[in-house]
Amino acid sequence: MVSLLPDITGSFSTPAGGNPTGAMVEAAYAHHGLDVRYVNCDVAPERLADAVAGARAMGWIGFNCSLPHKVAVIDLIDGLNRSAELIGAVNCVVLTEGRMLGHNTDGQGFLGSLRTVADPAGQHVLLLGAGGAARAIAVELALAGAAHVTVANRSVDKAVQVAALVADHTATTSDVLAWDGRLTPPAGTTVVVNATSLGLPGSGDVPFDVGPDAGHLVVCDVIPNPPDTDFLQRARAAGATTLEGRGMLIDQAAVNIALWTGVDPDRSVMGSALDEAIGGWEHP
Ligand code: NDP
Repeated sequence: MVSLLPDITGSFSTPAGGNPTGAMVEAAYAHHGLDVRYVNCDVAPERLADAVAGARAMGWIGFNCSLPHKVAVIDLIDGLNRSAELIGAVNCVVLTEGRMLGHNTDGQGFLGSLRTVADPAGQHVLLLGAGGAARAIAVELALAGAAHVTVANRSVDKAVQVAALVADHTATTSDVLAWDGRLTPPAGTTVVVNATSLGLPGSGDVPFDVGPDAGHLVVCDVIPNPPDTDFLQRARAAGATTLEGRGMLIDQAAVNIALWTGVDPDRSVMGSALDEAIGGWEHP
C-alpha cells in the first residue's frame, strides 16, 4: 500500500543514466507492498556532500553510492560496518534515527550469488583483478571462511594490497600472482572469479584458461552484461560450473533492500525487472 508520504531511498552516482538498480528495487518494493520509493540521482563529485546532507534533511531511510562516490562518501557519514571498513569503500548507507552507517554490499551480493552454487567456506579461490570489486569480493570471501585466496593482477602492487588485507585481518591465507600472460589456475584451486573489467564489450579477452580438467571448478564472472561472457562460455565448455555477474548485481540490490526495510526480497521479481529495464541484456 503506497501512502502520501512514502519512505525514500535512492542512488547517488554519475553518470547515472544507465543504472538499472532502481528498476529492480522499485519492482521489489511493489511486489512486497512496501511503502518506499527509490530515486536514481545523477550527482557530481562536488555536490556529493549536498546530496548526503539533503538525504539526511529529508529523512531518507538509505541510499546507494555508486561510481565515483564509493570512497568519498565515507567522510560524510557517521560510521562503517566491519566489511565496509576493511574494504575501504561504501555502496550502501542506512539511516537510523539520523545516524548514517555505511555498508559495502558488492561483495555480499557476490557471496549471495555464489551460495546458489557453492559454499564459500573452505574454498581455494583464484581472484582475477585487484580493483574495487575484487577487494570487496576478497574481504567477503575471507569473512565467510574461504581457506585461501590467490590474487592475480596486471598491476602486482595492487594484488599485494588485496592479499595483505585478507591475510592481516582474517583467518584466510593469501598469495599473489603476477598476471602478465595467459594464466591457468594454481593446483588446488576450487573457485575462480573474474573481478576485472575485462569481458565488457570492447574491453578485450580475459587472458585465462581453466585447463584441461575443469570439472571440479566453479568459475564466476562479475560482468553483469552480457551475462554469459566469453570467459564463462569457455570455462563451461571445459566442464566447469559457471556463475554469471547478473546474480551478484541482483543480490547486492536485494541486500540493500533488506538493510533498509528488513524485508528479504524476491530475487526472481528483481531479475525480471532488471531484464526488462535493460532490454533483455542485448548490447547495441
Ligand atoms: P576497477 O577499475 O577498480 O578495477 C579494474 C580491474 O580490472 C583491475 O584489477 C585492473 O587491473 C583490471 N583490468 C582492467 N583492464 C585490464 C586489462 N586491459 N588487462 C588486465 N587487467 C585489466 O573496477 P571495479 O573493480 O570497480 O569493477 C570491475 C568490474 O566489476 C567492472 O566490470 C564492473 O562492472 C564489475 N562490477 C560488477 C558488479 C556486479 O554487481 N555484478 C558490482 C561491481 C562491479 P589493474 O589494477 O592492473 O589496472
